[in-house]
Amino acid sequence: MKKQSLVEASENTNENVKDKGFKIKANGTNSDVLVGEEDHINTGFTTLEGYQGDYHSHPPGGIKIFSPGDVRHLLFNALFYGNTNANKSEAFTGLLSSQPCSACPNGKLRTHYVLRYIGASGNYLANLAYAPNKVEEQKKWFEKQYSRQVILSNSSATGDILNEEEHTKLFGKTLVYMGLNPKDFLLQSVDSNNNITNINFSENGTPIPTPCP
Ligand SMILES: [Zn+2]
Repeated sequence: MKKQSLVEASENTNENVKDKGFKIKANGTNSDVLVGEEDHINTGFTTLEGYQGDYHSHPPGGIKIFSPGDVRHLLFNALFYGNTNANKSEAFTGLLSSQPCSACPNGKLRTHYVLRYIGASGNYLANLAYAPNKVEEQKKWFEKQYSRQVILSNSSATGDILNEEEHTKLFGKTLVYMGLNPKDFLLQSVDSNNNITNINFSENGTPIPTPCP
């Protein structure tokens, strides 16, 4: 199964540090596994048309939540999907990752997040998606915020990593920093039993988790 192969890739420290991913059509068929630059798997996703979404993994040592590049990628995806389908919010991007965790079963904390755009404006999407001068700046900001959050974090049981609450806080801040309205995004956290928690955001980026019944 392809998702499993991405999780394994995210744990394999012997492999070149690159993101891996694959694209999924609305009918469930999917592409081969693609390999991209670190945190820029999205550059390998040149043809999104015809696809509903995709999954990628961040490599070992990578940040286990969606990056600014991933957010831009979702917006492109939603744009393409919205051109040919009624509902942009059906477009998605998924992130699978794994990190060492002494307090977790098998010594690993696996995370599975899905991101959707649930806002309204197509023009707004297009403007944001074409801001190439921002790309490097946003990447640096994100890495700096992550390091800060790790220092502030009290999750000592799991080492120098963030828990879900900290990840989602960092993500809410990222949306604000990017000049987006956090209310336009739905983050979904999927646990190992496939239970989904929907995480909405207030306008100032505060996460509002709601477990699905
Ligand atoms: Zn990514």
